[in-house]
Amino acid sequence: MTTHPLVTEPSDLIDFDDLLSASELELRNQVREFVQAEIKPYIAAWYEDAHFPLEIVPKMAELGLLGMHLDGYGCAGRSAVEYGLAGAELEAGDSGLRTFVSVQGSLAMSAIHKHGSEEHKKQWLPAMAAGKAIGCFGLTEPTAGSDPSSMTTFARRDGEDWVLNGTKRWIGLASVAQVAVIWAQTDGGIRGFVVPTETHGFTATPIEPKLSMRASIQCEIEMTDVRLPADAVLPGVVGLRGPFSCLNEARYGIIWGAMGAARDAFEDALAYAQTRMQFDKPLAGYQLTQQKLVDMALEINKGFLLALHLGRKKDAGTLDLHQISVGKLNNCREAIAICREARTILGGNGITLDYSPLRHANNLESVRTYEGTDEVHTLILGNKLTGVPAFR
Ligand SMILES: Cc1cc2nc3c(=O)[nH]c(=O)nc-3n(C[C@H](O)[C@H](O)[C@H](O)COP(=O)(O)OP(=O)(O)OC[C@H]3O[C@@H](n4cnc5c(N)ncnc54)[C@H](O)[C@@H]3O)c2cc1C
Repeated sequence: MTTHPLVTEPSDLIDFDDLLSASELELRNQVREFVQAEIKPYIAAWYEDAHFPLEIVPKMAELGLLGMHLDGYGCAGRSAVEYGLAGAELEAGDSGLRTFVSVQGSLAMSAIHKHGSEEHKKQWLPAMAAGKAIGCFGLTEPTAGSDPSSMTTFARRDGEDWVLNGTKRWIGLASVAQVAVIWAQTDGGIRGFVVPTETHGFTATPIEPKLSMRASIQCEIEMTDVRLPADAVLPGVVGLRGPFSCLNEARYGIIWGAMGAARDAFEDALAYAQTRMQFDKPLAGYQLTQQKLVDMALEINKGFLLALHLGRKKDAGTLDLHQISVGKLNNCREAIAICREARTILGGNGITLDYSPLRHANNLESVRTYEGTDEVHTLILGNKLTGVPAFR
């Protein structure tokens, strides 16, 4: 078995690392080291202050984490499994930081990489991979979340130009982004637009206060007569296939990320149980506590195995879309349950920011909601099992 001095995973009961290659382990360990040094010591303060640490973006870029699964244009060209492993480590730090990498790489950069013109790619992707430009992805609206086809943002032609009007809500990073990919209705169906955020008529206002994802930014975007040149439109795609192709990338990352948060919560609870004395012996010495820890560890082991299986299929090009729903639904649901159970072991101390489980659980409320809610993924799987769509 490959070993590394950094690797201490008390929840691992199955030698999971035996399933990873040397280069996968190396990347995973690099990201773990980064999270230990650059995120964990500061995350409680960032969370309390509702601060998104823009200052660590250059270091993430140096590690090749931005658009890491994309090829060319300064991107690292890593595999789906490597992307997942990195996501799990980042989310062990905080869901807000994994979300940043996901919005930047899987949503904004993927949209440009998959559907943009050569000019869009050359203009934005190298800068975004280097962390010099931040991107956001505007799909959701105040009255169009689970059903994005009901969006009302509209792009009309005015001569050669496009003119955008509408409101987007819950858009990650919009107030610090240089570029927004905005999805809008047109006379010819839903299209994506590459919008420099300095364009006149574009404003982004952070949504505050939040009880979840406090170390990250989500905004409401208002667009009033935002005038764009003809070539602002993404030429490669028409219809909801465009945004969904990017959401599937982000959903895949969540399968790993959620288990990273769960693992971190478990580790806090285990360490606490081993030292906290109750009735003259450590809390870890009671059967009820051991049952909690064992149940958590089993789900963490299974969750990572599922993530790895789906990642290997993604790399082989054999991953079906409903399988992403299997992973997203299961791993978010189990991760929230694990974090809440971990909190009980910490007793009253578990409600402070000195420990990670409740912060992770609160973050995961967002993670289970974005990129398709539990209900949406249940309906996708219900359709797969029964052949009867029940969305409407
Ligand atoms: C932290 C955070 C970050 C986000 N980042 C982004 C981003 O960067 N870009 C972006 O475009 N969006 C983003 N979102 C938006 C996110 O994708 C939406 O919140 C999500 O799609 C759900 O939409 P909604 O909030 O409007 O809820 P709704 O769609 O109104 O859902 C409300 C409830 O109804 C349920 N429901 C919906 N349809 C059905 C049905 N047919 N049957 C049964 N139940 C149903 C839902 O599951 C949910 O429980 C983000 C959200 C959050 C919280």
